[in-house]
Amino acid sequence: MANRYKTILLFGAPGAGKGTQGKILGKIPGFFHQACGDVFRALDMTSDLGKKFVEYSSKGLLVPDDLTIEMWRSNINAQTVLSLYKPHEDLLVLDGIPRNVAQAKAMEEYIEVLEVIHLVCPDLDKMVARMRRRALKENRIDDADERVIRRRFEVYDRETKPVLEYYEASLIKNVDAMGSPSSVLQHVLEVVVPVQDGHFKNPLSGV
Ligand code: ADP
Repeated sequence: MANRYKTILLFGAPGAGKGTQGKILGKIPGFFHQACGDVFRALDMTSDLGKKFVEYSSKGLLVPDDLTIEMWRSNINAQTVLSLYKPHEDLLVLDGIPRNVAQAKAMEEYIEVLEVIHLVCPDLDKMVARMRRRALKENRIDDADERVIRRRFEVYDRETKPVLEYYEASLIKNVDAMGSPSSVLQHVLEVVVPVQDGHFKNPLSGV
């Protein structure tokens, strides 16, 4: 248990901006961003796992937990072997995983969750609009259809939201996700910088 990856979770409904914030954080020395959806989308879609991903995500459903955790484990392992992610130097920023309580439990063995950034976006219409824009820009099949988007919100409410109760309340930091990316970033940094400073050396000076 001592060697678990020191981790921050980016948490929030589809369209809340986890990917946007995660990608920015991942550019800062000392942070490593890993988005589960991106790992899935990078699969060979003709492979067995790729086909499973298309089967579930095109309906707005979660991919089964055993496949997801196995894929996550081999991906983070590969990132470590390649030294893209350095567990002793980098804070791991996970986005899109764990996505239900079973995944949170299965990951206990591998990650030490230092904080959960909950991007709060109460305006459903705004999130749906964001997802539609993204679907056009990124050619995402799962967000092109309004019914699939609605299903994704139902799945979030039913399966993903309970993850917030799984972690200790003191770890949950609510951040208003309705502002511009830079203002959301400002609030996210207020929360994550002390965590990084408290657990890691300065990644550039080493002290
Ligand atoms: P968003 O950023 O819009 O929340 P993602 O890119 O994270 O969406 O996920 C897209 C799809 O990939 C999900 O709808 C789901 O089918 C699948 N997926 C991603 N992460 C997980 C996960 N942790 N468990 C199961 N399925 C997942």
